[in-house]
Amino acid sequence: MPKMRAVQIPTARGEFQIVERDIPQPGPGAVRLKVQACGICHSDEYAKEGSRPGITYPRVPGHEVAGVVDAIGSGVLGWETGQRVGVGWHGGHCGYCNSCRRGDFVTCSLGRQITGLTCDGGYTEYMVISAAALAKIPEAIPATDAGPLFCAGVTTFNALRNSGARTGDLVAILGLGGLGHLGVQFAAKMGFETVGIARGKDKESFAKQLGAKHYIDAGAQNVAAELEKLGGAKVILSTVTSGKAVNAAIGGMGINGKTILVGNPDRPLEIPGRLLIGGRRSVSGWPSGSPIDSQDTLAYCALHGIRPMTEIYPLERAAEAYARMLSGEARFRVVLSIS
Ligand SMILES: [Zn+2]
Ligand SMILES: [Zn+2]
Repeated sequence: MPKMRAVQIPTARGEFQIVERDIPQPGPGAVRLKVQACGICHSDEYAKEGSRPGITYPRVPGHEVAGVVDAIGSGVLGWETGQRVGVGWHGGHCGYCNSCRRGDFVTCSLGRQITGLTCDGGYTEYMVISAAALAKIPEAIPATDAGPLFCAGVTTFNALRNSGARTGDLVAILGLGGLGHLGVQFAAKMGFETVGIARGKDKESFAKQLGAKHYIDAGAQNVAAELEKLGGAKVILSTVTSGKAVNAAIGGMGINGKTILVGNPDRPLEIPGRLLIGGRRSVSGWPSGSPIDSQDTLAYCALHGIRPMTEIYPLERAAEAYARMLSGEARFRVVLSIS
């Protein structure tokens, strides 16, 4: 049996282990990927800490996978060996629940697989995944850039393109980290009047390099008042986990404005009812997307030269790379380069 190297978590709250495993065989409906790169995401913490139901161990984490199709299981149509593909959070769906029957695979309620949580993910040389989870990677995008686009990329791209904002509208991106630095690039390329919001004067030139027309320093300025001065935001895309920061921005929504959460705030939001009622404002959230949404994201990035900023580590330094991601110091996505 040929072997491969993989990084696994032996049990909830266990340390990362580098292990040798048999190279897995794809069953019916599945393919095997030769993994080239895998991004490390804050959501990998669910696998590491066991803080979500339904995770069994040992588990190989990682849901920002880029590689090539290496072997194809029975009954799989439309994919060829050697094709460049990737996988994100969505690792497969049941096909028969009410959501799936409506074509809304992301909210599959009966058999949804989450890559790196309910099935093994991409901290490995080879992995097997449902063919329904695959998305194509364009030639122009290297694997280490593709990885984070399967999570931070599709989440911000898909939230913005489904936000209802139109070309020329004022769109604010709250936070300039892993999600936010992509969100600003997408918003600018989509033709929105883009506002970057972060803490510190020093981030202004960076926000503008990414395409922001305006910058608000949340450490020194009243974010809501500054957005109001600009006419009020049609969309505030909130990528941060600080509930305090979200609360400080929410009043900056314009008429018919919408705040869309893609980061999970660490405290309940304070939203005055009159703010929502008077100007038909709303607060909503957005989960990442389906595999075809990922494919659209990567195609858009290839078309417009949008790339994540990354820090690259080899597979055997996964524990160190994970710690670097957790530190919040990385600029901006930490990625394992595997083969
Ligand atoms: Zn992620
Ligand atoms: Zn389903």
